[in-house]
Amino acid sequence: MNVKSMDLMFEDEKIAKDSSVVYDGHVDLLGLDKDGLAKFFVSIGEKPFRSTQIMKWIHQFGVSDFDDMTNLSKALREKLKSTAIIRTPKIIAEQKSADGTIKWLLEVDQKNSVEAVFIPEKNRGTLCISSQVGCALDCGFCATGKQGFNRNLENWEIIAQMWVANKALGCKPKEERIISNVVFMGMGEPLLNVTHTFPAARILMDDNAYGLSKRRVTISTAGVVPAIRKIKEALDVSLAISLHAPNNALRDEIVPINQKYSLEKLMPALYDYVEGGHSKKHVTIEYVMLDKVNDHVSHAEEMVKLLGDLPCKINLIPFNSFENSGYERSSNNAIHRFKDILLAAGLKCTVRRTRGDDIDAACGQLAGKVSDRTKRTLKAVEIKRAG
Ligand code: SAH
Repeated sequence: MNVKSMDLMFEDEKIAKDSSVVYDGHVDLLGLDKDGLAKFFVSIGEKPFRSTQIMKWIHQFGVSDFDDMTNLSKALREKLKSTAIIRTPKIIAEQKSADGTIKWLLEVDQKNSVEAVFIPEKNRGTLCISSQVGCALDCGFCATGKQGFNRNLENWEIIAQMWVANKALGCKPKEERIISNVVFMGMGEPLLNVTHTFPAARILMDDNAYGLSKRRVTISTAGVVPAIRKIKEALDVSLAISLHAPNNALRDEIVPINQKYSLEKLMPALYDYVEGGHSKKHVTIEYVMLDKVNDHVSHAEEMVKLLGDLPCKINLIPFNSFENSGYERSSNNAIHRFKDILLAAGLKCTVRRTRGDDIDAACGQLAGKVSDRTKRTLKAVEIKRAG
């Protein structure tokens, strides 16, 4: 996909007022946020407060059959059966890493599957979810990018990853919160699919659903500037930027969306995003460490200048390899040298610990099953999958 078509994808996408998905004449309730559900209930002649009841059933108790919603009258259950549906994707593979990371492959339609990853840590459990089938952005160091792009996930397919993961982990979010954080860092670019990612993020943060605080829900973007500008008014959530290069020449090459939204456009959007917010508001800056590509001392020095006084935390990500990527991971020395330069300049910086790479579940290794519509995979060498 070239830069022009990326642009069109966003222009096409005004944040739709109504994100409801209709399947076989039935509205899918899984992906509707509180307002979406209230609207649906009004449309079938019911009171809007039903939205909180049904949200609890679906998300807190993991119920997908209307007949199990015992505090709804029989008449209402019958009405729901004739107008609505709660679809959930099938898990077609589950892989467990030696470090406890779990990766699920979820079938979203006959041709496509996406991956979601659960990363357990001492004090938290993070679920990494996908927002698109494949990705149009074509960052050369990312396995998802190499697979091409098929389509946006719909709201229900995005939140279903949380629903299914809770089921697979054997917990009811109301009783036990094993998944404490969710990051939109799986397959795809969430800000090229705001109509569906925003309601899903709202459900994650809704007290009648998963009740995660805004600090625990992070949307990661390669830099879709018009959407970054919209996110502030549409959704109070944490934001991470995949920066990866401190100047346009290098960023044009490794994060091609930079050709459309250069650093001169991106940086002011980030300052505007944090401005006027809570005093603790900051952005996370992600920076993948690629050997001899973006890890020189001069790059670290440029980063210090570029980030200036932006309230941010930098997360250095050791590159996770995949076959035929053409890149290598920076040496530990280079990573720590880079980090020390940022710290010495007063910036906050950590190095992300690699998790789940033995099952291809680490950052940038997710590949699912994508029926590519961009024809990119015809040109690229096939990515071999483990398991
Ligand atoms: N499209 C979004 C979200 C998906 S990528 C974005 O670009 O932010 C999630 C994070 O993993 C991004 O920072 C991405 O750049 C990083 N990543 C991609 N491929 C990687 C790889 N092979 N090794 C390490 N990190 C990678």
